[in-house]
Amino acid sequence: MVQAVESLQFDSVLSSFVDDCAHIWTTWLQDGPGSAASRKLRRERRFKTAVGRMTVFMVRPSVEFATSGGWGAFNWTRWRLRINQCYTGQDAIRYKDFVELCSTVYHETRHAEQFYRIAQGLAAGNLRLPDARAVQIKQQWPARGAIQSYVVMFETDAIDEDPRYLTATQRAHLIADRMRIPLSVAQHADRQRDSFASYLGAGRPSWFHRAALDEVNDWLRATYKKRFSESGNWIQRPHGPYRVQRNRPEENDARSLEELVQAALYRRIGHDTPRNRHQRRTDIDLFGA
Ligand SMILES: [Zn+2]
Repeated sequence: MVQAVESLQFDSVLSSFVDDCAHIWTTWLQDGPGSAASRKLRRERRFKTAVGRMTVFMVRPSVEFATSGGWGAFNWTRWRLRINQCYTGQDAIRYKDFVELCSTVYHETRHAEQFYRIAQGLAAGNLRLPDARAVQIKQQWPARGAIQSYVVMFETDAIDEDPRYLTATQRAHLIADRMRIPLSVAQHADRQRDSFASYLGAGRPSWFHRAALDEVNDWLRATYKKRFSESGNWIQRPHGPYRVQRNRPEENDARSLEELVQAALYRRIGHDTPRNRHQRRTDIDLFGA
C-alpha cells in the first residue's frame, strides 16, 4: 500500500486551509453575547485549529498571537509561530489585511514543515549534517583557500556522526541538538523517516529551483548558516528586506506558497477588485453580516 503523504505544498492541504480562512472571514462579525475581546479570542482559536488541521502529518507548532513588528515569525527552538495580534481584534479589518494575515499563517507554518522535512531527510539518511566545526571555522576566518581545505576535511570526516550508523534514539538526539529543534519533533520525524521518500517522489513544485532533495538540502544549509549568525527566529518583515529574502531558498519557497494562498483566498471569498481589497469587513453591503 502506498502511504499517502501530506505537505503544505500540495493543493489539497492549501485549499482546505483556504476553506478554513474563508469560514473565518464569513463569521468574522458574528458573536454571541461576547465582547470585542471574546471575538478576538474566537478568531485566534479558529486560526489555531486551521494550523492543527494542516499539520496532522508532523508536529503541530503552537501559535501565539503577540505584539510584533512584522506580520509573523517562526521560532524553531520553541516550535512556535508568532503572529501579529493587532489584526484579529479588528472588526473593521481591511480585506487585503485579512488575506495577508491568513497567508502569513501559512508562510510561517511552512517554515515549520521545512525544519520537519530536514529532520526527516537526516533521519532517513538522504541528507548529511554539515559538520558543525567546519561551519564554525568558516565563521571565524571567512573565505581563504586554506580554510576551504579544512572544511572539506571535516565534512568527509563526519562518518561516525552519520545518522545511518546510529540507533533511532541517538539519531533523534543528534538531529534535535544540531538543528536546535525540540526532541519531540526530531523523534516524530525519525519515526516517519520512511515517508520522506514518498515526499520526494510526490513531485517537484514549479517554484523549486532544483530537485526536491536538493531543495531540502538548501534549506538545511540555510538553517546552519542561520544558526551561527542569528537567533532562532525567521521573521516575516513587511517590505524592505523581502527582495533579499526572496533569494534565499527557504524564503522563496515560503513566499511562493504564500502567494498561492492569497490568490486562492481572493478567488474563494470573491468581490476581488483593487478597490474592494481596501474595503473593511464592516462593509456589510459588500461582504455580508
Ligand atoms: Zn519566512
